[in-house]
Amino acid sequence: MKNFIDEKQINTLLEENKKPDPKLIDDILIKAESKRGLSLQEMAVLVNIKEKKQLDKMFATAKKIKNEIYGNRVVIFAPLYVTNECANICEYCGFRADNTELHRRTLSFEELKEETKILSDSGQKRLLLVYGEHPKFTPEWIAESIKAVYSVGGENSKIRRININTAPMDVEGFRIVKEAAIGTFQCFQETYHRETYEKVHLKGQKADYDYRLYVHHRANEAGIDDTGVGVLFGLYDWKFELLALLQHSLDLEKVFGVGPHTVSFPRIEPALNAPLSEQPPYAVNDDDMKKIIAIVRLAIPYTGIILTTRETADFRKELLEIGVSQISAGSRTYPGAYKDEKENKPDMQQFTIGDTRSLDEAIRDILKQGFLPSFCTSCYRKGRTGHTFMEYAKPGDIHKFCQPNAVFTLLEYLLDYASEETKKIGLQRIEKETSNCGIFNHIIQDMYKRALAGERDLML
Ligand code: SAM
Ligand code: SF4
Repeated sequence: MKNFIDEKQINTLLEENKKPDPKLIDDILIKAESKRGLSLQEMAVLVNIKEKKQLDKMFATAKKIKNEIYGNRVVIFAPLYVTNECANICEYCGFRADNTELHRRTLSFEELKEETKILSDSGQKRLLLVYGEHPKFTPEWIAESIKAVYSVGGENSKIRRININTAPMDVEGFRIVKEAAIGTFQCFQETYHRETYEKVHLKGQKADYDYRLYVHHRANEAGIDDTGVGVLFGLYDWKFELLALLQHSLDLEKVFGVGPHTVSFPRIEPALNAPLSEQPPYAVNDDDMKKIIAIVRLAIPYTGIILTTRETADFRKELLEIGVSQISAGSRTYPGAYKDEKENKPDMQQFTIGDTRSLDEAIRDILKQGFLPSFCTSCYRKGRTGHTFMEYAKPGDIHKFCQPNAVFTLLEYLLDYASEETKKIGLQRIEKETSNCGIFNHIIQDMYKRALAGERDLML
């Protein structure tokens, strides 16, 4: 079937640019600085850089762009697993239908509210709800589950933004879910390489490559203009995947005038009874991961890049500097996990998680690394989504919102939820940041005082 993924074009471009000319690399990096993105051919050149000097130049360019668009703020969120029941068989995932050893669980809405309460009591404001894929999880049911999460807590402790990672739906299904006020709809193609895709998706709706490929188009048709794409690295050659991801983004831009709001980069982690996850055929090492993030920052400059916190602190720092703009913190990855943790019950994660720090520890660590953790949900709540978001982001104006909103939401976190140690480090940082907000200085100072006096949910 003909679609916007042109494998022949990708393979030809990768082959033709195997040994790129250094002058060409320099020219592409200079052009990338203007934040106009990359063409497929330019990306094919950059994925083939090998020399350290050129790589360093590419990382420096990505860092500059990241700073100009988002400054040093890092958006924090937590995943909340609603169900691990799944009718599909994806070779890499522990939730696969034929895994008889997995303890299956779908949270009742009361249990979902309990999980939400634990997360909101810890200071989280943005959640990613994750669902297995099963015909019984209808759009109506998903919408109800979202409403249940939003209903938890008092005025100041509510979850303010819910993103979802669900099975693909049809346009009507998306209309129903949109009504429940979702932020971003996320769905990863996993691999854009059709032959590999068909090999690793054995059963269920997910085995249909094309239905999944057009899921963001359908979401946009239904009016959901913040969509998240992603690749599960390890299934196929990362260079191919990156060019395909760009073809995907360019098509969304062509058809709807706006590309993906976020890109995610999970690397395959070992999962229960998923042999492919033990030895991924195209495992991506740290060096390549760094290239991937930098290239995507150059290629689709205004996109949010999401990383989970299971990377080491040093590596995460590097990735935050060159491109990553959102990370999960305090994460647990199975239904009921937050309550289990609270009750010291054994852990049954979806996949091995290296980073088991609490939200408070993660925030402290991020502050120590020189970044500004943010719980901001302002863009989505003020209608800065899709085109409108890009209208602010492209001239470099989003930074003016991100910085103050990061300060207010961090301040809220420090005053209401943080340990003494984190609070001390955080308040010192905020003092520095508030003296450095350019034309917004007087507004910031005023809002800062109001927040200290007890006002909450302040935002620009
Ligand atoms: N069922 C929905 C789907 O497949 O799109 C959403 C939930 S699924 C658990 C969310 C994502 O988890 C998948 O898109 C996949 O990229 C990721 N995932 C699955 N198995 C994984 C593994 N072993 N390591 C890392 N990520 C994994
Ligand atoms: Fe089910 Fe999603 Fe896991 Fe596939 S990746 S088995 S669809 S939960």
